[in-house]
Amino acid sequence: MRRKVNFNAGPAALPHEVLEHASDAVLAYDNSGLSILEIPHRGKEYDAINEESRQLVKELCGLDDDYEVLWMHGGGRLQFCMVPMNFMSQQDSAGYIVSGHWAEEAFEYATHYGNAQILATSREDNYNHLPIWPTNISKELAYVHYTSNNTIYGTQMKETPECNVPLICDMSSDIFSLERDYSKYSMFYAVAQKNLGAAGATLAVIHKDLLQHSRRTLPPMLSYRAHAEKDSVLNTPPIYAVYTALLMLRWTKAKGIQAIEKENTEKAKLLYNELERNSKFKLTVTRKQDRSMMNICFTTKYKRDEKLFLDFCTKRNITGITGHRLAGAFRVSLYNAVQLSHVKKLVQVMQEFEGKPTV
Ligand SMILES: *Cc1c(COP(=O)(O)O)cnc(C)c1O
Repeated sequence: MRRKVNFNAGPAALPHEVLEHASDAVLAYDNSGLSILEIPHRGKEYDAINEESRQLVKELCGLDDDYEVLWMHGGGRLQFCMVPMNFMSQQDSAGYIVSGHWAEEAFEYATHYGNAQILATSREDNYNHLPIWPTNISKELAYVHYTSNNTIYGTQMKETPECNVPLICDMSSDIFSLERDYSKYSMFYAVAQKNLGAAGATLAVIHKDLLQHSRRTLPPMLSYRAHAEKDSVLNTPPIYAVYTALLMLRWTKAKGIQAIEKENTEKAKLLYNELERNSKFKLTVTRKQDRSMMNICFTTKYKRDEKLFLDFCTKRNITGITGHRLAGAFRVSLYNAVQLSHVKKLVQVMQEFEGKPTV
């Protein structure tokens, strides 16, 4: 069966070689005589996967042993709970930058555990731009949480903001897509199903100083410290998802983040240029500097073209371009594994569509 050109927002496109290795491992993992689905989580095979993957994360981020790298279950939403549970007490306040749907959800979850405050938001404009980063952050806050890339609305904070309290970031949809100073963060996390592989594993990287400041007694599964003490094998981890993430990490290292960023910039530029030029489409993000390189959101100038364009793409083997119901009609996700040639194909299809009468 012919593979589709895949622009899905997550679970998202993966490199062919990663799929190949992941698929081989299902039948036989290394020389274990077992499938990856059968290896024990407390055995030398998984130890090696766990160790190499966590080491590679540190290496790619340029971090040392001051940080703990954890593979968690429960996706982004469990991190929305665990961050406030671990790092904000009932009496504490924490600041949230509400720049999109996921940021808002993270804030909402945090309100259950203490005094979560919105420091800045662009909600009133349906998140079509980034909020202005606050300059007067109170030193009393337990931490500030923000989302580096707003997957649904297509805005991205490429620079790391200044912050005088522990900075925590949801990097689910742009981790390893560009060079970043990871040492400025007290914690960052990312679900695997965008730039890191298969759904089921979530990466959490936490500075040991923050880990020391855990604010509550929690059941072990909800405590980062408990996970760290067990080297991220507190219970049976999502072995296959972590293994797929390891394959993605190796792929990322082989390419290099600098080269990945360069290619991502080129991919995004190609599509944005076409969207600005093409008379059939309209971009939804208002400020150019806020545009995401990962998720590109747009609508058709005329409503009637919406379905026509979608069908036009489907017929040409292109999938995953439907926008989130909260934002515009279309969203094209250009994660690290999406090939430049696929973006070129989409641009070509858009040009073909422009030349086509709509009635
Ligand atoms: C996809 C995404 C999430 C949600 O992850 P789940 O695993 O579905 O809970 C959270 N944050 C961001 C920025 C995302 O892009």
